[in-house]
Amino acid sequence: MSYPNINPKHSHLYSIFTMKCPRCKKTNLFTHQNPYNLRYLFSMEERCSVCHLKYESEIGFWWGAMYVAYALSCAIVLSLFVPLFFYFKIDVDNALIIDILITMCLIPLVFRFARALWVHLFYEKAEDMPQKNL
Ligand SMILES: [Zn+2]
Repeated sequence: MSYPNINPKHSHLYSIFTMKCPRCKKTNLFTHQNPYNLRYLFSMEERCSVCHLKYESEIGFWWGAMYVAYALSCAIVLSLFVPLFFYFKIDVDNALIIDILITMCLIPLVFRFARALWVHLFYEKAEDMPQKNL
C-alpha cells in the first residue's frame, strides 16, 4: 500500500535534520520550530496532520530518545574537548568549562534531534506498513 502524500524527494536523513514526519516527510514533528523557545521544547503533535502517523507508539517511547541525546551529548563533549585541549593547548579546567558551556547551549537542539532520529529509527519503513499505527 502506498501513500499518495509521501514526499519522495526527501530522504530520511533530510527528514531527520529538518525534523519532519518519518512517513510523509511533509509536516514538522514539533509544534514550534524554534528549539530555544524552551516553553515549547517538548511540544509535539500527537499525529501527523497529513498521513496520521502516531509519533508516540507506546508509553515511554521517548525514553529511548533520551539515551540518544545522552550519546550525542557525549560525542559533542569529546569532539569539542579534544581540539580545545590538544590543538589550542587550553588547560583541562578551562577546556572543560568552555566545553560544557558550548554543550549546554546545544542541549535544545540535541534533544530535538535525538527525538527526530529516534522516531525515524522506528518508522524507517513506516510507509510500507501504514496500518500499524492508525
Ligand atoms: Zn506524516
